[in-house]
Amino acid sequence: MNPKKKLHDWYLTHKRDLPFRKKKQAYPIWISEVMLQQTRVNAMLPLYESFIKRFPNPESLAHAEEEEVLANWKGLGYYSRARNIRKAAILLVQNYNGAFPKDLNLILKLPGIGNYTARAILSIAYDLPFAVLDGNVKRVLSRYYGYTNNILGAKADTDLQKIADEFLNEDHPGDHNQAVMELGATICLPESPKCLLCPLSEFCFARIHQKTSEIPLRVKDKKQIILKGEIFVLYYKNSILLLREPKMRFLKGMFHLPYGFIGEIPEETYEPSQIFLSIKDSNPSKNLTPIGEFKHTITHHKMGFSVYSYVLESREWVEVLAKKFGVETKWVSLSDLDTEFPSSLASKVKKILLYLES
Ligand code: SF4
Repeated sequence: MNPKKKLHDWYLTHKRDLPFRKKKQAYPIWISEVMLQQTRVNAMLPLYESFIKRFPNPESLAHAEEEEVLANWKGLGYYSRARNIRKAAILLVQNYNGAFPKDLNLILKLPGIGNYTARAILSIAYDLPFAVLDGNVKRVLSRYYGYTNNILGAKADTDLQKIADEFLNEDHPGDHNQAVMELGATICLPESPKCLLCPLSEFCFARIHQKTSEIPLRVKDKKQIILKGEIFVLYYKNSILLLREPKMRFLKGMFHLPYGFIGEIPEETYEPSQIFLSIKDSNPSKNLTPIGEFKHTITHHKMGFSVYSYVLESREWVEVLAKKFGVETKWVSLSDLDTEFPSSLASKVKKILLYLES
């Protein structure tokens, strides 16, 4: 029997009874896929149920306050994902009547939605022919097709996406994607795959060549991490605000300009701090255009920063925020900026400020 058909038949018999699979609806599929990127199914289910109960559709999410959405995300971490979900729901309601567009490029423009989530929504909710690629799929496909290169290497995602596209069962794209993921989660396990129970065993390269312990090859090199950040220069009279925040990923223990990473955040440790978000979302920050941009590298992190600046009428607002979030403040002159904040980040910002003053 054709392996795609065999896999589909296996899935129809063995699929787990999960609430978000009951109906082919984009919204619950989207929420469940984002949650599943953070935690395993069993841990995620109660959180998913209560989230969907409180926010049953994009409209309810779009009309909710951010704080309430975050409160309902508790236990999942990666709060930037919850913020992005709410922002994307607002755009869905504003631009698409609350429904997901059936177009990969349009979905990819929504905040926080990457290739995997977009393809999962389009295939599972709309049965459109897009193959997904997550950790489980990579393991199954690399074993089945005998992909012996490092799956953490630079080219692996492109290679494996091509393989996934070719393997896609275009008659049942949604079921097919879920079947491969389910196979990876329950049968083609990382340590001891249950090949005897596998619908793909007949033609599986790794099983035939007894290489299931060697494939997939995972060699961790220090993969470059790309980050997009924003830095704020807040003046009060002739002084510039510096902060010293607990639990920062970079610049630990140092007074620094308020900064944070935005867009797709690769790991929770890069999440922006509450004080940065409060400054970023405050009225004076809205509709600002950057006064400059620069690139910065710290070990394997490649960062692109936009710099914003404005003058405060009073320092009180910032001091209240700092107290609320347990952050220390310091006000320094421009000439002292790079001695009080001894990082090349400060020198790069200072260069922009001096250029603007000249
Ligand atoms: S036969 Fe074994 S190694 Fe191959 S896909 Fe199935 S479970 Fe994985």
